[in-house]
Amino acid sequence: MTAPAATPAGKAGDVADGLVDVDPYDDGTPGGIPTYDWNTAPKAEFATRRQLRAMGLRPGGHGPAAELKCRKCSFKPLTECRHKALLFRIDLAKKVRPMTWAKEVALDKAMAARQTCPSCGRRYYYCLPLKTLGMCVPCHDDVPADPTHYTLPRTGHHLAA
Ligand SMILES: [Zn+2]
Ligand SMILES: [Zn+2]
Repeated sequence: MTAPAATPAGKAGDVADGLVDVDPYDDGTPGGIPTYDWNTAPKAEFATRRQLRAMGLRPGGHGPAAELKCRKCSFKPLTECRHKALLFRIDLAKKVRPMTWAKEVALDKAMAARQTCPSCGRRYYYCLPLKTLGMCVPCHDDVPADPTHYTLPRTGHHLAA
């Protein structure tokens, strides 16, 4: 009695695989995830990242579960779509954690410190060279600042009455 010869698994090519639902026009889905034509993916199961986001969800620590051909390529089955959308399983998605107010304030404080000029008090939309110049470039060079680059300095915590 001889042991059955071990056939190397995963050697496709000459093997007609009729058991798996294979798209003959799909030449290699990364990770072996299914590809759906436009509008054919089960909407209750899959959603794009953007659709998840609209539902207040995010992909929950798992990769994409399927790919979706773009609308154009779905009508041309012989063309390989190069703009596939990734689909994620809705049942595995997680709720988006809203940033807490305190976290947001702390973040803003940190940013404000790097964006506010101690000399003129203007807060810029970008970080200032405080380590080198210690102030904003317009202050340093004594030139007028571009008004589109900053917000007005903060005035107290109540508006002038
Ligand atoms: Zn396409
Ligand atoms: Zn300044």
